[in-house]
Amino acid sequence: MAQVHINLNALKNAECPQCGCPFFETDVCIYKKLPAIESPTGKAQMIRLALGRCADCGLIVLPKEDTLQAVSIERTDVEQDEA
Ligand SMILES: [Zn+2]
Repeated sequence: MAQVHINLNALKNAECPQCGCPFFETDVCIYKKLPAIESPTGKAQMIRLALGRCADCGLIVLPKEDTLQAVSIERTDVEQDEA
């Protein structure tokens, strides 16, 4: 059985583009509303985007290929910092 062994210690950590912190909380996501008119099925639906939140500065990032992309979300009155 062919197996690829990856030495995790040799891989670079992805870091927060804002503060350089390598730790992220992953229990974060946003839901995008896809209107029926733009939906391939013709029905409105939600698209879930799994995100990471920097453990240090709280920046929300979206993993994309080999980089972490900062996601700027316009928050209204919802503040989800429970700390
Ligand atoms: Zn950060």
